[in-house]
Amino acid sequence: MKRFARFARPDGTAFCAEVEGTSPETDVAYVLDNLPWDGGRRTGEEQAALGLARLCPAVPSKILCVGRNYAAHAKELGHEVPAEPLLFLKPPSALLDPGGTILLPRESERVEHEAELGVLIGRRARNVRREDALHHVFGYTCVGDITARDLQKKDGQWTRAKGFDTFCPVGPQVVSGLDPTRLRVIARVGGQTRQDGLTAHMIFDVATLIAYASRVMTLEPGDLLVTGTPEGVGPLLPGDVLDIEVCSAEEGQPGIGVLSVRVAAPPPP
Ligand code: MG
Repeated sequence: MKRFARFARPDGTAFCAEVEGTSPETDVAYVLDNLPWDGGRRTGEEQAALGLARLCPAVPSKILCVGRNYAAHAKELGHEVPAEPLLFLKPPSALLDPGGTILLPRESERVEHEAELGVLIGRRARNVRREDALHHVFGYTCVGDITARDLQKKDGQWTRAKGFDTFCPVGPQVVSGLDPTRLRVIARVGGQTRQDGLTAHMIFDVATLIAYASRVMTLEPGDLLVTGTPEGVGPLLPGDVLDIEVCSAEEGQPGIGVLSVRVAAPPPP
């Protein structure tokens, strides 16, 4: 298991690092000369991770998402369980750094959280078989598939509802070497648990999703696959703090950590 994150220097430039240590207070960031899935190696520079501003750990050419991938969530929105994965895209312009702020758009009266497991592609995937699919994964992260539920229903397709700027928080790090079938996805709003589901309950597992998607479009290193949300989606309001956590389904095993973002009304026009 390895951990990677992207950070901002005080002058605003970004760098990628491998993070090691046993607690957030003492973690060390070993600076890399490139993105780790593009062959980045340690430069020899190291910094205390605490106090560094974290950035979205992925730099995707596309964010490929899956709708209705947990039966209980499909049911809570009144849908049947799909016979095939239901794919849609979010634009990279929707990405939000850890600690960032989701801006509620004026166009919507109901914006909801969807906590999801994110899969970061490490090796180009095109027409891969299910049994080979996980070899194309670099690691896993926490993602919020923020959704304007009213616009999703109104538009009949999902581009606007899921595509607003700030509607895709990602982080706080990417963790390699996890078993994607043994994780737990949690959303808390103001400290109260709203979603808490097991990735073992996905209708289509990560390997199946990669194989299926790679028959449609080439998945490039750095791309994000966002794997669907468990039940318990609900509204976000100005002032809320949203925490998305992916931990191990088993007690005491390593997970990804907590992605924390704020929610605010849009600035005046
Ligand atoms: Mg979703």
